[in-house]
Amino acid sequence: MNQAEIDRRGNEERHKDPRLVHTLICKNKQIQPFLVTLRHSKKKTDYMKITVVGAGNVGATCADVIARRELANEVVLLDIRENFAEGKALDLWQTSPIELFDSRITGSTNDYSKTAGSAVVVITSGLPRKPGMSRDDLISTNAGIVRSVTTQILEHSPDAIIIVVSNPLDVMTYCAYKAAGLPAHRVFGMAGVLDTARYRAFLAEALDCSPKDIQAVLMGGHGDTMVPLPRYTTVGGIPVTELIDAAQLDAIIERTKKGGGEIVQLLGTSAWYAPGAAAAQMVEAIIRDQKRIFPVCAWLDGEYGLKDVYMGVPVKLGRNGIEKIITLDLNAEELEGVHTSAAAVREVMEVLDGMN
Ligand code: NAD
Repeated sequence: MNQAEIDRRGNEERHKDPRLVHTLICKNKQIQPFLVTLRHSKKKTDYMKITVVGAGNVGATCADVIARRELANEVVLLDIRENFAEGKALDLWQTSPIELFDSRITGSTNDYSKTAGSAVVVITSGLPRKPGMSRDDLISTNAGIVRSVTTQILEHSPDAIIIVVSNPLDVMTYCAYKAAGLPAHRVFGMAGVLDTARYRAFLAEALDCSPKDIQAVLMGGHGDTMVPLPRYTTVGGIPVTELIDAAQLDAIIERTKKGGGEIVQLLGTSAWYAPGAAAAQMVEAIIRDQKRIFPVCAWLDGEYGLKDVYMGVPVKLGRNGIEKIITLDLNAEELEGVHTSAAAVREVMEVLDGMN
């Protein structure tokens, strides 16, 4: 086997699992240890810190994915519950020798000085709705949490980019935006990456194909009014409508819209693996300046005929946060769906405004 062949095989293996240490057999039957380093594609320059506020289910999962992908030198988990973030951080850090990452994970009970200098902050703190609690009570409680977290974060990390995950998502993102007083390209929410992941996973199952090959766009608020766009859904470059019949596709769209509720019914609480991973994927696009195109809850300023509302739209995500909002040429039906969704979000935004 010549060097080119060794390199080619090494690259193939590295692609499968970058953490493996491989042994390749050479033409002369000598065994050559072939060390494939984990960090071959990961450039680290300045000390990088990422904070995740809320060490609950979503926050801890998000921190886990961020650390495993080595997106930062340090991942800080912060929670208001005494010792909770410290405990989660310690447990996660102890996976590092097994999972082979060296991003340090630390925990803090409400001490924001530990988060100082964070490049990206993910806000997952919030309460779930409890029995007897009205929607307005939930908005008021979670808005209080998101507002205070945002203010304290920016005191110590004035240059941070903020990703909101707490629900009700579109309105909590609006709340963080108002509290932050930052340009909107630095304050946005995670919902579309999760919702499209659900849509793509359901499609992969129905088509018996790899979810990797499914590309999709989904717009609107995070809830029943979201607008999956079959016209912009492809499977290995093939329009999905050529591979699946309309009734089956409609059923998948309906299941996607209720994807969160399906998990709540099964688990008695909301999802965390996919939400945490989705937020971490947005962090990665920013930290690595990947310029990825994702559906993100963004502040609209005339796009799609909508102004002053936070809603899911396709954007380009890079080191500066939202670097571009992409305007699709929607047909009348799609645009109507988007406007209906925006009206539903605006209604809840007005509830929040009325409380201030
Ligand atoms: P969780 O209850 O497991 O965790 C929430 C954590 O926030 C708790 O540990 C709590 O102590 C902490 N917290 C509360 N107030 C705080 C404060 N002032 N400062 C710091 N920490 C505080 O909940 P979870 O399952 O991790 O969900 C977190 C949030 O994410 C919820 O609002 C949930 O509805 C939302 N969520 C959003 C999406 C999405 O797609 N955007 C998906 C799933 C969940």
